[in-house]
Amino acid sequence: MTDPTDLAALLADLGLPEAPEPLPGFAADSHTHLDAVEERSGLRPDDALALAAAVGIDRIVQVGCDEPSSLWAAEFALAHPSVVAAVALHPNEVARHPERTKPGVETVERLAGAGAHVRAIGETGLDYFRTTEPEGQVLQREAFAAHIEIAAAHDLTLVIHDRDAHDDILDVLAGSTAPSRVVMHCFSGDADFAHRCLDRGYWLSFPGVTTYKANHHLRRALAVTPPDRLLVETDAPYLTPVPARGRPNSTYLLPHTIRFVAEQREWDLAETCALLTRNTMAAFGGAWPALGEIVPEAVGSGPKSSPTDSGPASAPEAGATRG
Ligand SMILES: [Zn+2]
Repeated sequence: MTDPTDLAALLADLGLPEAPEPLPGFAADSHTHLDAVEERSGLRPDDALALAAAVGIDRIVQVGCDEPSSLWAAEFALAHPSVVAAVALHPNEVARHPERTKPGVETVERLAGAGAHVRAIGETGLDYFRTTEPEGQVLQREAFAAHIEIAAAHDLTLVIHDRDAHDDILDVLAGSTAPSRVVMHCFSGDADFAHRCLDRGYWLSFPGVTTYKANHHLRRALAVTPPDRLLVETDAPYLTPVPARGRPNSTYLLPHTIRFVAEQREWDLAETCALLTRNTMAAFGGAWPALGEIVPEAVGSGPKSSPTDSGPASAPEAGATRG
């Protein structure tokens, strides 16, 4: 595992924001794009994982947006026990390349049954901000419905991308067999929409933009979210939290968002980390190993050590609190 000093040097080399002070516990990033992070900033996925663990983020949900990135997410998760995959065609991909939808959905369906490393169908949903023409929006609704069906059939979590389409998101869901776990990724509504989602039992995942001064509506939504429905995410390389706003995002910057959430809710930071780990595992179908945690298959090859220190214990609860 990479030395922490090397990690700091790596960030400096790549011109990336400094790492925040490590959290007092371990938490999870419920939505990230390690492949897009590498494209954007040159940070390799394995280094991104090591950096994240060094500041207290030891579990990650890697999200696909098209056929190649969904295949990559599943493959990367299979090779990295601390990572689980979400696979789907992003609504803007569906509108932009309708000819790719059929083969893409077939691949998503195949990956849905690939094993426990694929936990979710997403990100799928509707994006009326980027796709404004009605024909594209119809294609998005059709593809969204197809993704919902796959999630329900395989009992996978549904990860929803919703941009300027709140009502239609709930309409399409109401007209489908809803999967048992639904995550509103990058929650972008106000307190009222939060209630409508919470009433349906969904999790709300808050991104870095929650820290932006102008986003009072997100903080009001955060204030009404019950502790057990709350998730956080980077959506890296996008939506970088304050104080690194405007620079490329990566999972190691998630502690900024977590500290902000804990302050807003007046929660203890270590307990917030433990809560986020529990919630992320519940939202994505159960426990999976933290980075550096000994998994049964790895025992023969000797225990791996955490980049941080004593490393997380093997129990999920204990794994969320640094000793
Ligand atoms: Zn995303």
